[in-house]
Amino acid sequence: MTVLLGCIADDFTGGTDLAGMLVKAGMRTVQMIGVPGEPIGEDVDAVVIALKSRTSPVARATAESLDALRWLRQAGCRQFYFKYCSTFDSTPKGNIGPVAEALMQALGSDFTIACPAFPVNGRTIYKGHLFVGDILLSDSGMRHHPLTPMTDANLVRFLQTQIEGKVGLVDHAVVGQGADAIRERFARLRAEGCNFAVPDALTNDDLMAIGAACADLPLVTAGSGIALGLPRNFRQAGLLPESQVADALPPTGGRRAVIAGSCSIATQGQVSEMRAKHPAFHVDPLDLARGRDVVSEALAWAAGKIEKEPALFYATATPEDVKAAQDRLGTEKAGALVEDALAAIAQGIVSMGVGQLIVAGGETSGAVVKALGVTGLRIGPEIDPGVPWTTALAKEGSGEKPLALALKSGNFGTPDFFLKAWSKLAA
Ligand code: ADP
Repeated sequence: MTVLLGCIADDFTGGTDLAGMLVKAGMRTVQMIGVPGEPIGEDVDAVVIALKSRTSPVARATAESLDALRWLRQAGCRQFYFKYCSTFDSTPKGNIGPVAEALMQALGSDFTIACPAFPVNGRTIYKGHLFVGDILLSDSGMRHHPLTPMTDANLVRFLQTQIEGKVGLVDHAVVGQGADAIRERFARLRAEGCNFAVPDALTNDDLMAIGAACADLPLVTAGSGIALGLPRNFRQAGLLPESQVADALPPTGGRRAVIAGSCSIATQGQVSEMRAKHPAFHVDPLDLARGRDVVSEALAWAAGKIEKEPALFYATATPEDVKAAQDRLGTEKAGALVEDALAAIAQGIVSMGVGQLIVAGGETSGAVVKALGVTGLRIGPEIDPGVPWTTALAKEGSGEKPLALALKSGNFGTPDFFLKAWSKLAA
C-alpha cells in the first residue's frame, strides 16, 4: 500500500467531509475511526484518521494527533493534512494552533498554511478575515457557540494567540495571481520568520492555486476546501493516475434499514417521507426510562418486515416532545438511553441480515458504529452533499460481504434522502 496523503481530522463528520472531497477529486480514500491498531489492508491513495480532539484539552489533542501522525508516517504518506472546521472552531488556547505546531515539529517542518476557506459553503477569507456568507465569523451564530465561541474573525490575529511561532498573511492581491506568486510570498514570509501563512481565498480557483502552491509543504492545515487542489499535485508528480474511479465500493447486499436518532429539521422531514411509504418503529425515551424492553420489541417487529422492504427505526421527535423527555429525564440521560437503544437495534438488525444501513444523526452514528465494531470506512459515491455511501472495512479473510453504511449528519440531505439513497448503491 502506498498512501499519498495522510489526514488527521479533529472530529468525525469533519473527517467524512474531507474524505468525500478527496474521493470527488479522484483519490481512493478510507476514513479510520480513531488511530488504527494495525496497518490496513486496503489499496488507497488517502487515509483520513478521524479523532475527537476539537474541544479536548490541548495536551490530549496534541498527543492523539501525534499518534495519528506516527501511524500515517508508517503507512508511507508523502504529505500530511490537519483538517479542522471551516469556521476555525477553537479558543485562544487551541486546539488548532498547538496541534499544528506539534505536527510541524514532529515532521521537522517550519512552515505551513492555515486556511479554513470553503467558498461553496460560504466560508471565504479576505484580508485574513473569515466570513460566513455575507458576515464576519464574529458576527455569525458562531460567536455564541457553547464550546468554541468565535469572537474574532481576524485569523492572523486569532491564530497568533494560539501559537509560539509567527503568522503572516497572503493577501488576495497575491492569491489572485496564482500558484507561483503564492509560492513566492510563502518564501518571503518564511524569510521574515513566519511559520504560518493565512491565505485569502474567495473562490474555488483560489483554493486550487493555494493547493498547487502547497505541493512541497510536508504539512497542510485547513478546512476541507484545500483538498480540492492537492490531488492535482500528486498527478503532476506522476503518483496518481490522471483519472480513476475513486468511489467504487465492494459489492454489498442484504436487507435495508434506516436508524434515525437525529431530531433536526431535515431528519424530521426525511422520517415523515419514509413513514408514509415503509414500515416504521418508534423508539420513545420515556418507554426506555420505564424499563420497557424496546430493543426486543423492535427486533420482533422487524422479523417478517425487513425481508420485504426497507424499515425505519426512529426516535426522531418534535422539539416539544424532545423537551418533554429532557425535562423528565435530563438531556444527557434521554440522549444516552436513545443512543444505546438505537445502537442495540442496529446490532440486532445487522445480525438479522441488514447489509445496507442508513443512520441519521452525528452522535447516533457514533453510537451505532461503536456497537457494530466498525474501525474504518471506505468512502463511496455521494448521496447528497456531505453524505457518501461507505462500506465498513472488513476483517481480513472474513469472506463476508461488507456492510454498507450511510452516516448522515442530522441536518443534511433532501426530504427523500431515505428513499433515494439505495439507488446510488450497486445491488
Ligand atoms: P444531530 O446530527 O441532528 O445533532 P445526533 O444524533 O448527533 O443528531 O443528536 C441527537 C441526540 O438526541 C442524540 O443524543 C439522541 O439520542 C437524542 N434524541 C433522539 N431522540 C430523542 C427524543 N425523542 N428525546 C430526547 N432525546 C432524543
